[in-house]
Amino acid sequence: MRIITDERCTDYSSPGHPERPARISRTVERLREQKELAIDWSAPAAVNDEAILRAHTKEHLARVKAAVEDFDGDTPRHPGIFEHAQRSIGGALSALAATRKGEVAFSLLRPPGHHATRERAMGFCYLNSVAIAVLEALATGAKKVAVFDFDVHHGNGTEAILLNNPGAVFFSIHQHPCYPGTGTANVGRNCFNYPVAPRTPREEYRKVFERAFAELRKAKPDLVAVSAGFDAYARDPLAQETLEAEDFHWLGETVRKLGVPAFSLLEGGYSTALPELILAYLKGLDGK
Ligand SMILES: [Zn+2]
Repeated sequence: MRIITDERCTDYSSPGHPERPARISRTVERLREQKELAIDWSAPAAVNDEAILRAHTKEHLARVKAAVEDFDGDTPRHPGIFEHAQRSIGGALSALAATRKGEVAFSLLRPPGHHATRERAMGFCYLNSVAIAVLEALATGAKKVAVFDFDVHHGNGTEAILLNNPGAVFFSIHQHPCYPGTGTANVGRNCFNYPVAPRTPREEYRKVFERAFAELRKAKPDLVAVSAGFDAYARDPLAQETLEAEDFHWLGETVRKLGVPAFSLLEGGYSTALPELILAYLKGLDGK
């Protein structure tokens, strides 16, 4: 199991913001102290603008680099936010590369990315790491890449970037109504959305995941990218869903059983249980 992280991702924060450094630092601590998973740690790959510009406009990239003003109320400017977002992308690209070598890989970095659209930062996200990794995979030999986004919020940015891309297929399972309010129906030829009502019992939530996995299998991807958000957890402060740690273990196990090379990257997850939820998911991925 390869975990890609960089301690510099804990160097920025806003008072009271739920997307905080402890999400990563506490998870790293938890993963270092546990004994069940054998972990190889590595740093994110370097990223050039060319890879970013497959997913984003020049204007948007320039705005993130300059970061002269807050992007929106949820998505503040921070000194060096471009370098932080660039390392998150590098984590996704490293996870992709590791997966191609037959490893199980997870990118444990912040900021997340799945709300960032081609031209806009929003929802704690600046640049869309998963979309950039998918487009990189397609540019370097992958024929069909599926994104499985189980964050409790709709992956609107990933959808917008991959919409009708013949090499990509996108699945998002998310609470509705909830931020950002999109994802109520399928879009285009390749974006499949599974809105779930607040407080849906976890057994039913899993059935929705099963439906999405069944569609994903039909798409016959040669690679799967998982936008792993842990905010559908029962005690997450930003949503009203019901999942427990064992459901995230089941998600990992189900991804493993797809039998397709798959890499995962952290999106959301704001409860104090985040380290346990990530560990449960990783154990499932690793067959433990
Ligand atoms: Zn989320």
